Amino acid sequence: MGTLFLVATPIGNLEDITFRAVRVLRDAALIAAEDTRTTRVLLDRYEIATPTTSYHEHTSISRADAILSALETGDVALVSDAGTPGINDPGYELIVAAIARGHAVSPIPGACAAVAALAASGLPTDQFVFAGFAPRKKSALTTWVAGLRNESRTTLVYESPHRVEETLRTLAAAYPDRSVCIAREITKRFEEFWRGTCAAAITHLEGQPPRGEYVLVIGGAVEAEVAAWEVGEVEAALRERLQNGYSGRDAAAEVAGLSGWPRREVVRLVDAVKYTAGN
Ligand code: SAM
Repeated sequence: MGTLFLVATPIGNLEDITFRAVRVLRDAALIAAEDTRTTRVLLDRYEIATPTTSYHEHTSISRADAILSALETGDVALVSDAGTPGINDPGYELIVAAIARGHAVSPIPGACAAVAALAASGLPTDQFVFAGFAPRKKSALTTWVAGLRNESRTTLVYESPHRVEETLRTLAAAYPDRSVCIAREITKRFEEFWRGTCAAAITHLEGQPPRGEYVLVIGGAVEAEVAAWEVGEVEAALRERLQNGYSGRDAAAEVAGLSGWPRREVVRLVDAVKYTAGN
């Protein structure tokens, strides 16, 4: 019975790989890679000649089965294009299937963009939330940002250069004074850690069009922000959303997140607001 090794690979600088990772990649019977061409660059650099096969989001069941069969007779190393496999990268289904078949699943720890960004952010590291990629659709993004209102832990979110500005603008509209660290191109030539408030981050980005890979490290809510709104503020926020075409449910969900009020209390106010607004 072989072991499925989850081998972390560099997130930019090819030197960021452990001795053990190189040995495991050399000794494995097979390397399952998100993109074999990307992984080839790393394997060539360390003169690793192990056979590779692809394993990605759209991998067919038969390919996944072939990888599981290979585990019957030898070790398999799973790698993604960068960082830790399974962390916003392919791996989850294979890991679950390997565990179900009784294989050992063993991590070879190394780079992970979220952890690297958090460590260097200067924001509290004692408790944090990893949110993966921020929602793409505007309404989902607004609701997600509203949900951060009472989040006192540091939140980590992955971002693409095309999306980072909109996410920061939505954050700045809700929490202009909250701390954020924009971690860009970690371990690469243009590595940058910008630290400031969400409002100032917009000005920063305006002078520098987004380029490269980003992690946003968002500071937790401070007590003053968490203080619940007055009833009149909740009603006004609901009225505004209903007038802008929100359903009662969506308006209540968003306002609950922003106001610090329990959702069921906000839902109770929706009918009253609809009635007075003639909606
Ligand atoms: N498995 C990876 C890990 O362990 O970090 C994450 C893969 S996810 C598909 C890719 C995202 O990670 C990018 O869009 C970016 O948000 C973040 N990322 C990866 N490398 C990065 C780097 N060098 N600097 C900043 N962010 C990075």
